[in-house]
Amino acid sequence: MAPSSTSTSPPSVVVVLILLLSAVPARLASIPVSDGLEQLGGGEGLHREILRDETVLRLKELGKISDGEGFLERTFLSPASFRATDVIISWMKDAGLATWVDQMGNIHGRFEPSNSTEKALLIGSHMDTVIDAGMYDGALGIICAISALKVLRVTGKLQRLTRPVEVIAFSDEEGVRFQTTFLGSAAVAGILPESILQVSDKSGTTVQEALRLNSFEATAAALGQVKYSPESVGSYVEVHLEQGPVLEALRYPLGVVKGIAGQTRLKVHSSSLLFFFR
Ligand SMILES: [Zn+2]
Repeated sequence: MAPSSTSTSPPSVVVVLILLLSAVPARLASIPVSDGLEQLGGGEGLHREILRDETVLRLKELGKISDGEGFLERTFLSPASFRATDVIISWMKDAGLATWVDQMGNIHGRFEPSNSTEKALLIGSHMDTVIDAGMYDGALGIICAISALKVLRVTGKLQRLTRPVEVIAFSDEEGVRFQTTFLGSAAVAGILPESILQVSDKSGTTVQEALRLNSFEATAAALGQVKYSPESVGSYVEVHLEQGPVLEALRYPLGVVKGIAGQTRLKVHSSSLLFFFR
């Protein structure tokens, strides 16, 4: 995910992205679960049953929650997106997090230390997909974050955190349905224009109507409530598989991103009339 393609200065909500190696999907898919971490140099105390086995199972489970038959498609506010919401919430609760869904359909799972005045660490990724998506895109960042916090819970370390930690599964990054990317994260960053509510999908349903059909308020005020103040957020981290061949070709297991790309979608009308005559 990324905050926006607009020229608005980026919010402090989005600070750091971590790209996870593009080879990870291939490894997870091809290496038997029993020896995957050994090959990666794993040892005792790694909580493989959570960080490896359960994480892989959950990736496969979420990858099957689709609006399409035989392929993965889960767009903003689709029936499958709500089935996925229920599953993700159950995993967040299992990790010891307090959960809620905000007015843009983003799912939040938060651990709040008592009396903490520290800024939160946000971790997350997008839960929507492109059409015929890979099962790791977006899901990896959500499930890895939940698994990491679950390990902290079962080892008793979650309760000792002094900083709030929150996993967010963003409702829309890909923009497949409304051709407007980052609806979910832009709302959290507070840079989503009110006019977005009147944008229509292919069937003529507006964002506002789609939200209301699913019992969201869909008002400018409700959108405003989704925003996190920059003062409340210390940092944002996202694990994402590489969307290109570079790390894999270099055989690098991991890359840390220092900059991010935005997406802009344009409708272009072409004409055969020479530019001179226009
Ligand atoms: Zn993605």
